Amino acid sequence: MPLSNVIAAFVAAFLITQVAIFVTTVYLHRALSHRSLTVSGTAAVPFRIVIWMTTGMRPREWVAVHRKHHAATDTPDDPHSPKQVGFWRVQLGNVGLYKRVAADEENTNKYARDIRPDALDKLALDYSLLGLGLGVVILVVTMWTLGFGLLTGLLAAGLHAVFYVMLSGAINAIGHTKGTQPYGNSATNLQALAFITAGEGLHNNHHAAPTSARFALNQAEIDPGWWLVRVLVKLHLAQVRHEDVHLKSAA
Ligand SMILES: [Zn+2]
Ligand SMILES: [Zn+2]
Repeated sequence: MPLSNVIAAFVAAFLITQVAIFVTTVYLHRALSHRSLTVSGTAAVPFRIVIWMTTGMRPREWVAVHRKHHAATDTPDDPHSPKQVGFWRVQLGNVGLYKRVAADEENTNKYARDIRPDALDKLALDYSLLGLGLGVVILVVTMWTLGFGLLTGLLAAGLHAVFYVMLSGAINAIGHTKGTQPYGNSATNLQALAFITAGEGLHNNHHAAPTSARFALNQAEIDPGWWLVRVLVKLHLAQVRHEDVHLKSAA
């Protein structure tokens, strides 16, 4: 494969991963899990389709796993604590840790009973492989239309999977081990990680103020996910629950 095609695959994978990461943090995390903003139906449907085709995950399962993480942070019940199972197990094995808890229907009913499957879920979005398959087909056809070979699209799809899985693992592993801890909880802030995870690297801030739609709590901090929230608010596609920061007393 020519070098130009390899570079094109990296660029395409990087862009797709960033789209998936932005939708994960703003929609799955900030809106659905913590209700720190409300997203209108007009924006929610494309967000759900993006999650379906770029990750295959079901929002209610993601929410249940994540709420359990907040309810049991760094205890034996935490679905993905580097302090319990080790840094590398979370960094490299995050998918397995996630799947185990996501498959636990009792856990989903306990933590995400406010998110019920609707007609769109039953018709299509609950079928993970269908979404991922469609995503790969669209990517391969797009790359082919742009003049690259079919293999370039497949390489881009594979790279996207690796990037997304590694960045999600990093939020859970690095975000609970490396960086600063301005607030009294076990998570950490790392601006470099926040730049490539749409703000998720400001994880100590997030555990301190989980209902804040903005993760940057101090002037020097930058939260790219908040920029998307601002755009959605400007377009009347979302409403922020509260602009002032409500600090939680403990993690
Ligand atoms: Zn955390
Ligand atoms: Zn959270």
